[in-house]
Amino acid sequence: MEIERLYADNALKINEMSEMATAIVREYYDPVIGEAQNTYMLQKFQTPDSIVGQIEHGARYYFFKNNGSNVGFMSFYPRNDAMYLSKWYLYKQYRNSGFGRECLKFIIEEARKEHLVAIELNVNRHNPTQRIYEHLGFRRIREEKIDIGDGFFMDDFVYRLDFNADAERLKSLVANGLADDDIKQIAYKVLDGSRITDDEALALYTRADLGLLGMLAFEIKRRKSGDKVYYNRNFHIEPTNVCINNCKFCSYKKPKDDPQAWELSMDEILHRVAVYKGSKATEVHIVGGVHPDRDIDYYCRLIREVKKIIPGIVVKAFTAVEIEYMINKAGLSIEDGLKKLIDSGLQCIPGGGAEIFDEKLRAEICPEKTKSSVWLDIHRTAHKLGISTNATMLYGHKETYAHRIDHLSRLRKLQDETGGFSAFIPLKFRKENNSMHDFGEVPLTEDLRNYAVSRIYLDNFPHVKAYWVMSGLETTKLALQYGADDIDGTVDDSTKIYTMAGVDGKPSMTVEQIRQLIESVGLKPVERDTFYNEIK
Ligand code: SF4
Repeated sequence: MEIERLYADNALKINEMSEMATAIVREYYDPVIGEAQNTYMLQKFQTPDSIVGQIEHGARYYFFKNNGSNVGFMSFYPRNDAMYLSKWYLYKQYRNSGFGRECLKFIIEEARKEHLVAIELNVNRHNPTQRIYEHLGFRRIREEKIDIGDGFFMDDFVYRLDFNADAERLKSLVANGLADDDIKQIAYKVLDGSRITDDEALALYTRADLGLLGMLAFEIKRRKSGDKVYYNRNFHIEPTNVCINNCKFCSYKKPKDDPQAWELSMDEILHRVAVYKGSKATEVHIVGGVHPDRDIDYYCRLIREVKKIIPGIVVKAFTAVEIEYMINKAGLSIEDGLKKLIDSGLQCIPGGGAEIFDEKLRAEICPEKTKSSVWLDIHRTAHKLGISTNATMLYGHKETYAHRIDHLSRLRKLQDETGGFSAFIPLKFRKENNSMHDFGEVPLTEDLRNYAVSRIYLDNFPHVKAYWVMSGLETTKLALQYGADDIDGTVDDSTKIYTMAGVDGKPSMTVEQIRQLIESVGLKPVERDTFYNEIK
């Protein structure tokens, strides 16, 4: 990609950019914001004359081309100690193909060179590029409704990226600490916002002390989400625990004739959903065993019926393992199968079934399960179809640190490619009622080490979730100090996956209890929807 700075006397290119702005706005923003407002904005700010005027008043315009084709442009100007990004347009076909990220990385580098402490930008609340900002560490700091005259308003979110004002202070803490020199070098790298390598991740897992890891992971979390910790109002539906697979760590699957097996009928499921009609729940999370007799038509109908009962609820449903089975059974490609589910109302895919990607270990602990490459393909395809998903990793059983890093590395690469993951959720192996009981469970310190290294390594994941149902309340509180910024939701006693594996207590919390838990560690509870939009 070529990036070219424009000056006021470059009339030819300024004309080209003005035309490009018009084309992009007409193509993408008219349906979202409205043609009349966009025409007004284009005439006010995007004519060649107005662009020249802005450049003469200190704005800087950068023009992007790829192999001679126009890609887009951005303009910004310094304001106090921050750089204010005022326009950023990119053709739709480039937006999700890595160019968006490249353009923004460029501006981040520009701002760093000028020793500015932050970048701020306004973005329309419907603009899908918000996801890219979040992956690059921008956080939403406020909403802004700006009167732009003649009865038109810009209805924006303001995003900010802080260039670690605290980095120098933290670096001096590292310098005065007892860590080995190579660990200190990795810590400086993390504080400078650089990506760590697999070898560096291994060094952190094996040799960094927990205090240092917590400090680094919390700093990364702070840059991504400030002092916010997210939760949502949700409930689960688990249609069945009958399953064709036999994962050795599973305490949930039961044979059909087992007294603990269940196969909810469609009516029973819908009856459970109807209980939440009129409630403030924003998400239903539907996962279960891979039932041999249920097919994609059944599940599409299930989604449609749920939506009929509560039209506004977000359906987050089916692990890649369930999806692979239903798609294969129907003889569809991954893309066609996912499109069918999406057309029925599927809006998000949870992260389950990833377990551990290493093929050899996977063959030992869950031999029949969806192959790692297929799990990744299903998520890749979902992202390309515009669906966000989560990712998990089952840790604390037979895996080594190298296995964990291999797993995280495959996720980081896919996220670089698509940007479609919202959250990473480490899932701890629980030993009760399964055939891997003798492995025991790893201690709390290992949980925290894993949260921290995951948060540091997955620099392109906007959120790391401490799923309180799995980790328990006390560990969840600690995880918030080791990089997690989300604790999942109210759940309302609607899942059995972890209680059957030996986790104590009823999986249900009121909103007040969730908020108290987050506030008890000095952080700020923020209700979100499935897509991390804040709910006021
Ligand atoms: S972990 Fe999931 S796929 Fe494996 S046996 Fe249990 S329910 Fe089935």
